[in-house]
Amino acid sequence: MKRLPEWAKKTLGQPSAIHGVKAVLRKRNLHTVCESARCPNIGECFSKPTATFMILGDVCTRTCGFCSIDKGRTPLTVAPDEPLNIALTAKELGLKHVVVTSVTRDDLPDKGSGQFALTIKAIKDNISNILVEVLTPDFTGVDLERVLLAGPDIFNHNLETVPSLYAVVRPQADYRRSLDVLKRAKRPGVMIKSGIMAGLGETKDEVKEVLKDLLVVGCDAVTIGQYLQPTRKNLEVREYVAPEVFKEYEDYGKGIGLKYVYSGVFVRSSYNAEKLLSA
Ligand code: SF4
Repeated sequence: MKRLPEWAKKTLGQPSAIHGVKAVLRKRNLHTVCESARCPNIGECFSKPTATFMILGDVCTRTCGFCSIDKGRTPLTVAPDEPLNIALTAKELGLKHVVVTSVTRDDLPDKGSGQFALTIKAIKDNISNILVEVLTPDFTGVDLERVLLAGPDIFNHNLETVPSLYAVVRPQADYRRSLDVLKRAKRPGVMIKSGIMAGLGETKDEVKEVLKDLLVVGCDAVTIGQYLQPTRKNLEVREYVAPEVFKEYEDYGKGIGLKYVYSGVFVRSSYNAEKLLSA
């Protein structure tokens, strides 16, 4: 196991803030990817407060090598009250920008797209002037329209890594299919966003190729962050990427014409998401 360099160490933040937000979430039986994916920014985000809600349960039908979310047991039934519970919780936490993500539900006929649409609608119906960002799975073979018609402000779908590493990092996903999801989501009034992790064995040139591919499909914003091994069962870190390399990716991405590029050790898909549309 590689030693964690100083620049990749982060303090956990105020336990009281974390507990406070967790209590509000549990009150309505809600999950967050912040907790399930053991995000290093949880202390900072829950102190704001902000959080990324995870719908469709906490059990995934896929086995991505970097992800600590539960797999391998029966996914949970879709909770009909979940959309409203998320809207009420976002209101209680005073959120101005709500991020909604999910596990992948290949077991469902609509792949979960219906619950995304209902959740966006519930948030928009219950909170005025709210920004909604959805971080979605690839909805294999299912129409995206019902999600987009519900009116998200930001449509986010992560490529996660470079194509050469898909077999190990995202075995059930497909690089071209994920690019196509972003392309099909592109339309006026919706910002398109994606993200990858660094430190899984990719080369700099591969990362730059991905940035070019994202530009071609109309992506507006990209996040690039350091992969950190969440549990011993997950892929090992192959490299702790130096801050200057993250800067190089940011400059390169902006140089080829991507509007927003957030690149840094602790950058995550929805980290500081609320800053994007106010930048
Ligand atoms: S699709 Fe992959 S990254 Fe997403 S929750 Fe499932 S295992 Fe984790």
